[in-house]
Amino acid sequence: MKADVIIIGGGLQGLSTALHLGRRGVKSIVLEKESPGRHASGVNAGGLRQLNRHMAEIPLTVEAARMWKNIRELVDGDCDVVLRGQVRVAESDVQLKKLQARVDMLRAQGYEHEQIIDQETLYRLVPRLVEGCVGALYNPDDGSARPFHAATAFRHKAIALGAEIRSGVEVLGIEEGGDGWRVETSQGSFTAANVANCAGAWANRFASMLGEPVPLKPQAPTLMVTERLPHFLDLTVGAEGYQLSFKQMQNGTVIIGGAHLAKLDFEQEKSVIDFATLKTSAQTVTRFFPHMAQVRIVRTWAGIEGFMADGIPVIGKSAKAAGIFHAFGFSAHGFQLSPVVGRIMSELILDGKTDLPIEPFDIRRFQKTE
Ligand SMILES: Cc1cc2nc3c(=O)[nH]c(=O)nc-3n(C[C@H](O)[C@H](O)[C@H](O)COP(=O)(O)OP(=O)(O)OC[C@H]3O[C@@H](n4cnc5c(N)ncnc54)[C@H](O)[C@@H]3O)c2cc1C
Repeated sequence: MKADVIIIGGGLQGLSTALHLGRRGVKSIVLEKESPGRHASGVNAGGLRQLNRHMAEIPLTVEAARMWKNIRELVDGDCDVVLRGQVRVAESDVQLKKLQARVDMLRAQGYEHEQIIDQETLYRLVPRLVEGCVGALYNPDDGSARPFHAATAFRHKAIALGAEIRSGVEVLGIEEGGDGWRVETSQGSFTAANVANCAGAWANRFASMLGEPVPLKPQAPTLMVTERLPHFLDLTVGAEGYQLSFKQMQNGTVIIGGAHLAKLDFEQEKSVIDFATLKTSAQTVTRFFPHMAQVRIVRTWAGIEGFMADGIPVIGKSAKAAGIFHAFGFSAHGFQLSPVVGRIMSELILDGKTDLPIEPFDIRRFQKTE
């Protein structure tokens, strides 16, 4: 079977790449070993966070935020996007100064999306927050979407634009063939001039085959969801110095994350919730929201995600093989970036370049130290 582009992985990065290629009139085949959105892309916290990102990700996250704001134009659906803002709370003046220094650095580079809010504004925005916090880092345009709805909308739009999505097809190997790349799978071989490696936590398998292994560690971040509560919170809340992501959904439940890890058996693709870790997560919640102490947790789950040693993804051309492109290692914050990652991948594949600054995500950053 022949295609213009083969995409390994039907998570959001693969689906977004297929969608953007389709917008340019190029048909792709997405090969997914299970079903699209089955892994990180379908089970994440749905956080659309620009706040407190690694500096290298700022241009991408700002562009992605613009795309989420107008998501209907891209995927014909709203993905349940709600943009009510996000705060990163400071408990002390020292912490607030650190956050102010970040805002100053961003301003110096021309970015206005993060700001400091004082104590009074913080308590107006988050009235149930424990007393004594001094202020926060704030972005009024952050928010959330519903991950499975987003994965479904991206998939439907990619198909409408000509992509073919093959579920239950596991890629086993990639080899250079006469007229491009031959991709061996559990369902026969496929050929294409270009291959996009969007295999999430499994992507190092393919980078290694091409002679460019990376320090990617599969891990299983955990989420908890509470029973439904009367409305008390509009914003997403994080806290300086703590692993916390805390938001109340429209149905009243509260989703609690912060990259607390479950125990993962990667070979078996099984994770077991670590209740000691969840206790730490719950203690952080009750530190900032004491009224949550008696609230019931109704469900916990974990998803498998690829974490890079330096916390930022690999996005770009292979350094070893022409026609191979990578987008993986999103280290628990790739949901927000997915609309722009697909755009970048399609531009790299079709134009050989993108106007977004992706040098920090180059796979060669690991080869230099070998
Ligand atoms: C619990 C949790 C909470 C998170 N919360 C947030 C959040 O609030 N905000 C945010 O921005 N990000 C969040 N993330 C991160 C985000 O979900 C991921 O960064 C993003 O979904 C990665 O997308 P992906 O397409 O690279 O990976 P995936 O969704 O994992 O997709 C990769 C796909 O490749 C397939 N695949 C692998 N190997 C093969 C093969 N050999 N053949 C065929 N197919 C293959 C897999 O089956 C998988 O479907 C969270 C992640 C988790 C786990």
